[in-house]
Amino acid sequence: MGRIYYLDSNATTPLDPQVREAMAPYLAERFANPSSIYKFAQEVRGEVEAAREQVAQLINAAPEEVIFTSGGTEADNTAVKGVAFALRDKGRHIITSHIEHHAVLSACQYLEGFGVEVTLLPVDRYGIVDLEVLKKAIRRDTCLITVMHANNEIGTIEPIEAIVQIAHEHGIYVHTDAVQTVGKLPIDVKELGVDLLSLSGHKIYGPKGIGALYVRKGVKMDPLLHGGHHERNRRAGTENVPGIIGLGKAAEIAQAELSQNERKIRVLRDRLEQGILERIPEVYVNGHPEKKLFNTLNCCLKGIEGESILLNLDFEGVCASSGSACTSGSLDPSHVLLAIDLPHEVAHGSLRLSLNKFNTDEDVDKVLEVLPGITERLRGMSPLWGKQGTKTRSESAD
Ligand SMILES: *Cc1c(COP(=O)(O)O)cnc(C)c1O
Repeated sequence: MGRIYYLDSNATTPLDPQVREAMAPYLAERFANPSSIYKFAQEVRGEVEAAREQVAQLINAAPEEVIFTSGGTEADNTAVKGVAFALRDKGRHIITSHIEHHAVLSACQYLEGFGVEVTLLPVDRYGIVDLEVLKKAIRRDTCLITVMHANNEIGTIEPIEAIVQIAHEHGIYVHTDAVQTVGKLPIDVKELGVDLLSLSGHKIYGPKGIGALYVRKGVKMDPLLHGGHHERNRRAGTENVPGIIGLGKAAEIAQAELSQNERKIRVLRDRLEQGILERIPEVYVNGHPEKKLFNTLNCCLKGIEGESILLNLDFEGVCASSGSACTSGSLDPSHVLLAIDLPHEVAHGSLRLSLNKFNTDEDVDKVLEVLPGITERLRGMSPLWGKQGTKTRSESAD
């Protein structure tokens, strides 16, 4: 296989070699179960707790407010189902948004089978949730508001502090899926004011299969997994020690590199965006112009299918993503692109390029070199790309 140009960092990031090094002993000689009582195990217990402190520091939480999970998906599921079950006597209503990750949306949908009602907040064309609709949606029996910190597809950053302010006036818990912002933006759970927050290892140069849920002290939440007394009775199961050590190291590195990574990645992303806009006509950039992740570029190339762009980029060694590829086997555009009210035929041509700290100018140059030709060729073959511009279909986006 030739060189890989990896521009799909919102799907996963490469493991930082320093993280791999930190993890290695725990896949070898430091294999003890941290729950055992002998010294060998108690040392490993101490190292697990040190990792918990590293994660807590990254988000300004107390270590006992951090629960290790198997990733962002489990953290989201635990927050949504755990609060709904714990508050089932008082609350039977959850508010979330149309653009959440499926880990939140599907968990909410599952709860509907248990009599929980779910309100989905609309977003504007930039992907920002409507706070006026939120205020009106709040009911006496609302037990949780869950809105993501930044969207993984279009990068829009949501007004979490404002949501918290509205929610707390009514005594309602707020959860945020911060998988895309932890390690990228400075996160302070006290400043954000959230009650629960999800994060994931493999989005911050850590390993896959490990994540964490911040649960503010005093928040009522049932566990998802029952068994032993791990994680202060909030998540049973022998700890994923190598994963936890890796997440701790990734958190420590993220904190140290936060501003230098942002500076570097933003320059690359902006050059990529400018270069594409200069070289290709009829490209529309999605997401909020300012309130957006600095590593993400989501754009629609009018007249072509996201899938065909990806296949052609893949042929050149470029790894990217499309808003219609997430739901594999389906050609429906993503729920996020439909929620920002893009017409179907535009949403189909979406391309997401997301960068990480290991990207270089070469990655940007490669995309700028191959994408204009790919676009021109595909448009030349496209029935959607008529002589007088694009043909439009009559169906609406919702
Ligand atoms: C990746 C991602 C998740 C899922 O995290 P996993 O660790 O892969 O389970 C959840 N939410 C968002 C916003 C994500 O980007």
